[in-house]
Formats: sequence, structure tokens, C-alpha cells
Amino acid sequence: MPIYEYECAACGRVASHVMLGVRRKARPACPTCGSGRTRRVMSSFAVVASESSRLANFDTAAPRDDAYYSDSRNVGMWAKKRAQQMGVNLGPKFDETVEKARTGKLIKDMI
Ligand SMILES: [Zn+2]
Repeated sequence: MPIYEYECAACGRVASHVMLGVRRKARPACPTCGSGRTRRVMSSFAVVASESSRLANFDTAAPRDDAYYSDSRNVGMWAKKRAQQMGVNLGPKFDETVEKARTGKLIKDMI
């Protein structure tokens, strides 16, 4: 699912938008002020250095079994790698979710 970030020229707010199919070329309206003067921003992917090198060596096409995910550091790696390849910044909220998933807090939040 492609997620892009758009900056509003009117209020300066940056918001993430999921863009599907034909809408991909259309500019989304700003969720804050409703302005249509938005432009796509290519933000850098924020990861800590050790994870950056792990991402660089990560192959999204490689098969992954249960043993792979028994290392909690691998949770969320696929999504992060794909986002990096697509030049998408998933934002701090995504990192937070991955962190919760890695520590098991996500499951605790759901039950
Ligand atoms: Zn705006």
C-alpha cells in the first residue's frame, strides 16, 4: 500500500496519504485546512545506524520462517525495507508500532 507524504503550501502541515490506483497522480487536499495546494515530499527514512545497516542487508525476497521472527529485531523489517525501497517515510507512528510489536506490547494492547 503506497503511502506518500504531502506538504501543504497554505499551512505548512505535512500529512501522510495512502494513494491508490488512478488517484496516485492527484494531489490530496490538506486534512488541516482543506487547501489543494499540496506537494509530495520525499523525506529521508529515519532509522538508527545499526538498523540502517541491517536494512541494507535485508532481502525482501528471501524466505522467512518462524525462526526468523523469533528474533524480535526482525519484526517490521520487511515493511521498513519496502518503504525504504519506495522512498516512503512511514513516520514516527510506524516506528512506534514496530517497537510495540517487537516488545510484545502491541499484542497486549489488542487483548
Ligand atoms: Zn493546509
